[in-house]
Amino acid sequence: MRVSCDLLDEIVAHSRDDLPNECCGLVGGTDGELTSVHRARNAAATWLRYELHPTDQLRIMNRLEDDGQDLAGIYHSHTKSEAYPSQTDINLAEAWPEQLYLICSLADDANPVVRAFEIRDGAVEEVDLDVV
Ligand SMILES: [Zn+2]
Repeated sequence: MRVSCDLLDEIVAHSRDDLPNECCGLVGGTDGELTSVHRARNAAATWLRYELHPTDQLRIMNRLEDDGQDLAGIYHSHTKSEAYPSQTDINLAEAWPEQLYLICSLADDANPVVRAFEIRDGAVEEVDLDVV
């Protein structure tokens, strides 16, 4: 999956802006490339988990459609743990198995990490990000 360095930086910036809570949002894309980041509110407003705000989700999906982009992924942050899906994340993904899940870890504040995963039937598989 191709992705620009700037796009990953936007996810890191959102993760930092929403501290101490987890942040979340959607990523648009076309043909194997992630092309846009859209911030959503975390309706759960906690550092323990994320819940895409339904109004934001609808607004962003309409916007992507208007722009001719597909919904390519969902991102959220981990404020204290590594960039790997938690059991909560795995359970949440059951509702939306075709998405790419991006997780930004701020566990090491000076070195944020963004990784991407497919989560299907409870199985987690990392997807390589080709940063351009
Ligand atoms: Zn998580």
